Amino acid sequence: MLLLATGCNQHPTKRDDKATASSNSLDLAERCDRAAIQLRSQLGSEHSVIVRPPLIIAGDQSKNELTSLYSSSIQPATVALKRRFFNTAISRPTTVLLFSDQTTYQKHTARHYAAGDHANSIYGYYEPTDQTAVVNLSAGEGTIVHELIHAMIMADYPEAPIWLNEGLASLFEHSRLVETQGKPDLIPLHNWRLRVLQRGIADGQQIPLRDLAVTTNKHGQNDALFYSHARYFCFYLYELGQLEELYAGYRNKNESPRELLAHIAPDLDWADWDRNFRKWASNQRLTKTHGDDSGAIHRLLKD
Ligand SMILES: [Zn+2]
Repeated sequence: MLLLATGCNQHPTKRDDKATASSNSLDLAERCDRAAIQLRSQLGSEHSVIVRPPLIIAGDQSKNELTSLYSSSIQPATVALKRRFFNTAISRPTTVLLFSDQTTYQKHTARHYAAGDHANSIYGYYEPTDQTAVVNLSAGEGTIVHELIHAMIMADYPEAPIWLNEGLASLFEHSRLVETQGKPDLIPLHNWRLRVLQRGIADGQQIPLRDLAVTTNKHGQNDALFYSHARYFCFYLYELGQLEELYAGYRNKNESPRELLAHIAPDLDWADWDRNFRKWASNQRLTKTHGDDSGAIHRLLKD
C-alpha cells in the first residue's frame, strides 16, 4: 500500500502513467523494506519496526502498538493532510522513530547527531538529510503529526518559508481527527502555544506579520514566540478559510506574502493585518474542551 498516494490527484492518470506509478510504488516498497532491514540491525531487538511505504515506523513499543498507532493516527492524519494541502507525495523511504520517554529519546539523539544540532528539540525533530522524524512520545502523539508534516512539505514544497512550514506543522500537532464526507480530516485545536502568543502580545512583543513572513531564523532570541506566531497566524488563516489557498499560492505561483494576503483582503495593509490578528488572538480561549495536550510541555513553560 502506498500511503500517500491515496489523496486527491489533480491530474487524470493515463495508462502509461499508471504503469510508471505502479513501478515507482514497487521501487518505493522495496527501498522501504531494505531500509527497514538496516534499521532493525541498528536499533537491536528491543525495538520493533513496521513498514508502511513510504514510512518505516520504528520504536521501543511492540509491533502491535506501532501497527495500532499507524492505523488509528498516522495513516488517517497523513491522508487528511495530503487531501487538503499536498500535491506531491513523499517518494523516498521516510523513517519515523518513536521513543516512549525522554531518556531513550535523548540517548538516541545524542548518539546520532552532533551536540547542539537538535538541542532545542525536546519533543522531536525532522532530519531532512536522513529523511527521519524522531519523536519523544512523552510529549504527546501530536509531535508525530508535526514532524510528518515537515516530511510532507519537503516532498511537496521544499522551498516553503519557515513560518509556513513550522506554522502548518504546529497547527496540526494538536488537532481532532474527524470524518468529512466519509474522508479523514483534521480540525486544529488550541494548545499551549496560545498562552505564549497572548503573553507575548500583552508584553508588547508581537512579531509584525511582515517580519514573520520573511524570517529565515526560527531559533532567534525567542523561538517559542516565533512558533506561537507561526501556528496562530496559520490558525487565523484557517478560520478565515484561506489557509489552503495561501499555501497553494505560495507553492504554485511563488507569490509574495503581500500579494497573497491582498487576494484575501485587497484593502488591508500590514498594519491592519497585525491589528486584526492581535484582536483575534487576544479573544481566543484555551479551554479544557480544547485539551491542553501535554503535561511535559506545560512543565517546560515554567509558568
Ligand atoms: Zn517543526
